[in-house]
Amino acid sequence: MPYRRPDFVNYQAEFNTTLHQFMQAASEQEQLSAFDKIYALRREFETMMTLASIRNSLNTSDSFYEAEQNFFDENEPHYKKLVTSFYRVLLQAPFRNALEARYGNLLFQLAALSLKTFDDCIIEDLQKENTLSTEYTKLIASAKIEFDGQIYNLSGLAPFKLSPDREIRIKASEKYDAFFAANKVALDRIFDEMVKLRHQMAIKLGFNNFIELGYARMSRTDYTAADVKRFRDAVHEQLVPISQELKARQQERLGLGDFKYYDEPLDYPGGNPQPQGSPEWIVQHAATMYKELSPATDEFFQFMQQNELMDLINKPDKAGGGYCTFLSGYQAPFIFSNFNGTSHDIDVLTHEAGHAFQCYRSRYLGIEEYYFPTLEACEIHSMSMEFLTWPWMHLFFNEHTDKYKFSHLSRALIFIPYGCAVDEFQHWIYENPHCTPDERHNAFRTIEKKYLPHRDYAENNYMESGGFWQRQSHIYRSPFYYIDYTLAQLCAFQFWYRSQSNREEALNDYIVLCDQGGSKSFLELVKVAKLNSPFDPNTIKTIAGQVKKWLAEVPEEQLS
Ligand code: ZN
Repeated sequence: MPYRRPDFVNYQAEFNTTLHQFMQAASEQEQLSAFDKIYALRREFETMMTLASIRNSLNTSDSFYEAEQNFFDENEPHYKKLVTSFYRVLLQAPFRNALEARYGNLLFQLAALSLKTFDDCIIEDLQKENTLSTEYTKLIASAKIEFDGQIYNLSGLAPFKLSPDREIRIKASEKYDAFFAANKVALDRIFDEMVKLRHQMAIKLGFNNFIELGYARMSRTDYTAADVKRFRDAVHEQLVPISQELKARQQERLGLGDFKYYDEPLDYPGGNPQPQGSPEWIVQHAATMYKELSPATDEFFQFMQQNELMDLINKPDKAGGGYCTFLSGYQAPFIFSNFNGTSHDIDVLTHEAGHAFQCYRSRYLGIEEYYFPTLEACEIHSMSMEFLTWPWMHLFFNEHTDKYKFSHLSRALIFIPYGCAVDEFQHWIYENPHCTPDERHNAFRTIEKKYLPHRDYAENNYMESGGFWQRQSHIYRSPFYYIDYTLAQLCAFQFWYRSQSNREEALNDYIVLCDQGGSKSFLELVKVAKLNSPFDPNTIKTIAGQVKKWLAEVPEEQLS
């Protein structure tokens, strides 16, 4: 896939000429052809922007793609301006009915929402926000931590935090946390600038604070911050007690008199289940798994392999975490991860592959807005794939499969209160944009105690005074993207439950959901997939009961 930096001056001119053709269209046909040309131009720019971003994340010290990333950090807001001017015209389109007949109404709703999030007067702020976001990524990727004579980045150090040997766990956690503590001032400074910028943009655009702007930027069309608050309250009431029971059971299983934060990653005294082979072996088994799961997943995974659309192994200077993105110019998904020998590697091949499968299935929808739905819907695709592939987990875990499933399901549940804590914290931050960094840390620790009452930071001052959130990249890079995982998890649990009794039917509904891409809103997609809304407290109650029962029925002997 050849990369070429867009000539932005010419690009802008061509975009504006086409926009003019769109406005002046004398017939449906003329309008449609200008519309298609605009989307071809958008694909061209976005494909180059995505390529630059992928290649920058693969090697953050490569100066060529670093410069390209900087180019896009600076020009993306100008591109956004072009798209916004298109949206403005789209809403007034002379032959709007013809477009609605082809693409439905959601495109117009999304365009209207997007208009609220942008104005020329915030271009500089958006550029600054991009720069700060890249600065955060670089700082995290720069970690070089000495451990037992070797140098690791944060992903590379993670397996030691799961060691059955408590001394190793403690040492690994201390080194990991020390990186964040040592960079606290920089991390606080970056975030403080981000919060002030975001608040300032919200005010310039006529919002009271960043919360409403944040929701609009997430393209949320069918729920508000008040719905999300009710959801968090239901989680607090229904799921926090169950997650506390699971933590107590874990402590007992590990035979620990005191249960500290550095013990939490370890599920079993003999160690957590690990994939039983090399990265190549894992990918081979994943190919078998997707072949057996369905013809649709087989076709998809072959496409990913044949076109080298996965970069999975942890390397020095690679950015942290994992993601799936879409190169619209090639109609190709791309998966990025940092394999480190833990069960997390398998989660990548189910979770990120779930995202990739969805955009592969929706690649024919033809417009940028519909390749992916909003993110809480996207996470249904990924988290449900993690469960739909359960019958193949023995390929990776052999005799440790039962332990893997127990960990997977219990961790999925325990995650939800944490996700709500992150979300509540973000609402607090943007309601109180003028707070000091220390007040933010205090607020996080208070909220953390509410949702994770068991958490004991031992003697770790940085964590005890509320430092944990600084490793949660979403809080920096994608405000209000986090509750999405918890809403989606409650949908994925429904696929988990349904697939136990009727796998065929659950899988069919899942594929139908993926085929819709982003052509419907979250709650509409929930309906299409025959799921119950996570905003209904009864949904949480029912699922909590099902998951709790399944976990309770696993005998402890199986988990030693
Ligand atoms: Zn995901």
